[in-house]
Amino acid sequence: MALDNLRNLYQQVILEHYKKPRHRGITDPVDRQQRGHNPSCGDTIELTVRLDATGNRIEDVKFEGEGCAIALSSADLMADAMRGKTIAEALEMVKVFQNMMKGDGEFPREHRKLNVMQGVAQFPVRIKCATLTWHTLKAALEHQSAEPSYEAVSNEEID
Ligand code: ZN
Repeated sequence: MALDNLRNLYQQVILEHYKKPRHRGITDPVDRQQRGHNPSCGDTIELTVRLDATGNRIEDVKFEGEGCAIALSSADLMADAMRGKTIAEALEMVKVFQNMMKGDGEFPREHRKLNVMQGVAQFPVRIKCATLTWHTLKAALEHQSAEPSYEAVSNEEID
């Protein structure tokens, strides 16, 4: 496939998830909750997570918030990929995503849909839009209680 067509395909996937998100809302119940903000673009994402009875596996991730197409489609794609993952697996995927946005590696076949975000890595100013939801999920999972954290995480210092 020509590079231009591939780029169009990436943009289509991003726009589709932006216009028709599948995971907008709030989980029931809320076991983890975290707000994330990306000051450089103005994206704000409020993530909620439902865990299984052991507290070790993610059953559902939902998001609310306002932001650009890249921030919101990244949240929707991430929520899709996180269902059924253990917390350890989820944190590993956060690392893979962050490395991918630095041009280092990509997701294996099972999660190849997430690789559409690689196209964003060509636009350094938008990378923080794409990583916001991942950064926020990491904070949510590392926060060891269902008590909401009112402190919004900001990814301003992250590269
Ligand atoms: Zn943005």
